[in-house]
Amino acid sequence: MSGEVGDTRAGFPFAFTCRRSGNCCAIPGGFVRVAASEAAAIAAHLGMSEAAFQSRYLQADGERLKEGLGHRCVFLQDGRSAGCSIYPVRPAKCRDWPFWPELQTDAALLQFVRRTCPGLRDRPSTSAGAPDRPGAT
Ligand code: SF4
Repeated sequence: MSGEVGDTRAGFPFAFTCRRSGNCCAIPGGFVRVAASEAAAIAAHLGMSEAAFQSRYLQADGERLKEGLGHRCVFLQDGRSAGCSIYPVRPAKCRDWPFWPELQTDAALLQFVRRTCPGLRDRPSTSAGAPDRPGAT
């Protein structure tokens, strides 16, 4: 793993390499918002009608995924490496993890994520405000 850089984005003080802990899919109090187009894509991926998908997997508001056991996302799979059972069509919020705008403004949330996600580490070579170089290695 030495020399591993991980993904970076401008304005975020960390680099990220997914360790497949599944922790980001089981945050107490968290939820996964699903746009209508995303719900349709997931339903198609699962071979279900949109109505059946909504009934089985969405909360009553029709906008958030239901929880599985223990605050876990209903699509989180266990195993030596945790996985998402709808990975190819997972919602945008999941694809963007951990590069969420709120992690740029909410210090307490960033601290929580640093404690719970083993894939985050500091970017010692990038000072705050320095221009980013996407794709740099
Ligand atoms: S949809 Fe997949 S990636 Fe998103 S929280 Fe659920 S298990 Fe995790």
